[in-house]
Formats: sequence, C-alpha cells, structure tokens
Amino acid sequence: MKKLLINFLSKIPCINRYFSGIATIFMLHRVAPFEKDRLLPNENMKVPPDFLEKFILELKNEGYEFISLDELYDILKNQKKVNKKIIFTLDDGYKDNYEIAYPIFKKHNVPFTIYLTTSFPDKNALLWWYVLEDLIIKNDELIVGNIRYVCKTYEDKNKVFLEIRNKILKLDQKNLLKELNTLFKNYKIDWFSKNNQLCMSWEDVINLSKDSLCTIGNHTKNHYVFNKLSEDEIIDEVEGANKKIEEKIGKKVEHFAFPYGGKDEVGLREFQIIKRFNFKTVTTTRRGNIYLEHKNFLNCCLPRIMLVDKFRISDIGRIRKQRVVTV
Ligand SMILES: [Zn+2]
Repeated sequence: MKKLLINFLSKIPCINRYFSGIATIFMLHRVAPFEKDRLLPNENMKVPPDFLEKFILELKNEGYEFISLDELYDILKNQKKVNKKIIFTLDDGYKDNYEIAYPIFKKHNVPFTIYLTTSFPDKNALLWWYVLEDLIIKNDELIVGNIRYVCKTYEDKNKVFLEIRNKILKLDQKNLLKELNTLFKNYKIDWFSKNNQLCMSWEDVINLSKDSLCTIGNHTKNHYVFNKLSEDEIIDEVEGANKKIEEKIGKKVEHFAFPYGGKDEVGLREFQIIKRFNFKTVTTTRRGNIYLEHKNFLNCCLPRIMLVDKFRISDIGRIRKQRVVTV
C-alpha cells in the first residue's frame, strides 16, 4: 500500500523533484555481461555494459548532468541550489572497471570515482565470495564447519551460497584466512586464486588516475567490516590505504567509502572516527538521494543508490526522503 502511494505521488512533478533531492550518487561494483550458471548473489554485483551505456544516454536525454565528487562537495559546501546531478562510484577495484566501464565513461565524458581496496591491486585480496561460488558450482554436496550442504540444483546452489556467506561474514575479520581454512578444512583451497582474473593492477590504477575524469578514492586496505574492528584497527585500515594510494598515484586521496556501509556494519562510532580524516566526502551504502542538508554529513555519511539493471530513471524520484541521516 505504502509503495503504491509513493508510486502515485512520484508521478506528480513537484513531489518527484522533492524525492529526487539535488543529486544522486550511484554505487556500482562490476561492469560486465551476466554469465549463465554463475550464482545470483555475485552476478547481482554486475551491471551489463550495454545497460550502463543506455542508462547514461537516457540520463543525458532527460537533462541530467554528470559531475565528480569534488563538484558535489563544492555544491554542498556552497549550498548551490541545483538539481539533476549524477555521480557514478564503483567500489573495490575490479578489473572490469578499467577494461569495460572506463571506455564507456570516457566515450560519454562522464566523471566517475573508483573506491579502491588496496589489497585488490596488491593481489592479496581474500575474494572468498568468488572462490566459494566456484566450489559450490563444482560440487553437489559440501561439508563446511561440520554441516552438510546439498547443492545439486541451481536453486540449491544459490541458497547454499547465501547460507555459507552469512556464516563467513560472522567470522573474525582479522584472522579471516585462518578462520576460512578451519571452516573449509575438508578442502584444499587457494583463497587468492581469483585475484589475477578479477582485480585491477596498480598499473591500471595509475593509468586511470592520470585521466581527469577519474577520481581514486579510499576503500581501506582489506575491506573488513568496521564495527568488528577496534578504533586503532580502523585508523590503520584507512591510513594504510591512503598512504599506499597516494604513493602510487602521486595525488592526495580526498574521498572515502566504507566497506560494507550498511546499518549493520557502520554507525555513529564509525562516523565519528572517519570524520577525523577530513575527507571531502564519505559515502555509505545507505539508500537515498542527496539533499542540501547533507552539507553537515559530507565527511561522514552520504547515502548512495545501488545501480542494478532493473533500475529506471523514474525510480530516482521514488526513493522517499526519510531522515537525511539514519544511524
Ligand atoms: Zn566494497
């Protein structure tokens, strides 16, 4: 009922504009074609390249303007009364961002930000979600932490993936490799086997940073869940990534995105800690558009909207303006 009402209200232009705010920050992870038989939770992190290009063209047609995070900072700081601004951000540092997304953004002159987790180009990222996917696809049955999982059908495999994923997300973040090896003691697994195939290299990052369309942001060293870390550990994760990226690209890093930025992973404590770094902007994964009131939350918690291939431009105005910041 609520949804119906919002859909109805969003068709009224002035209300649609109110719900749309002044800008929208889209969050993407991978830009690559969907692969049949791969599992849905991982495939859902992709938008296909043809969708992205079509979406950019449609936004242009409807009068939207693409801006960088620096420009958004300027708009909010100076309280400029604008609307229809779009910012693209891509999290983590997947290789397809360089090989597939970059040429599309370049072709259409669209600024974008890559929030980089430095273990990706260091090629020591624990991409357990892709290793686990391979394991589930290859096997009809798995014994994980003494529990037997049957994964014969495609439906089973998707379900089992989610069950085991929830288990892994609860493990001790700092000892993840050890914990994973204990959990999967019945299997010989190389947890780093997907790095070369999926992660950007430092050379890719440096090339991107030379293009004024691209901003390289900080997404920590190891992509740990922040509320599972001590204050010192959080500082080390942020400082370490800042230092390494700045050394590699020769530019100051001024933008940050929380790894796992939902309500269950980051809140007031984490916002207070990140404020000390004085980033120009900090983004979460909380869903919402940007309003002028976000001036006060620039350096701790700007919301974003995850872009999926089912998203339509009219959906921008269907996202309710709730409290500007929910903690
Ligand atoms: Zn991430």
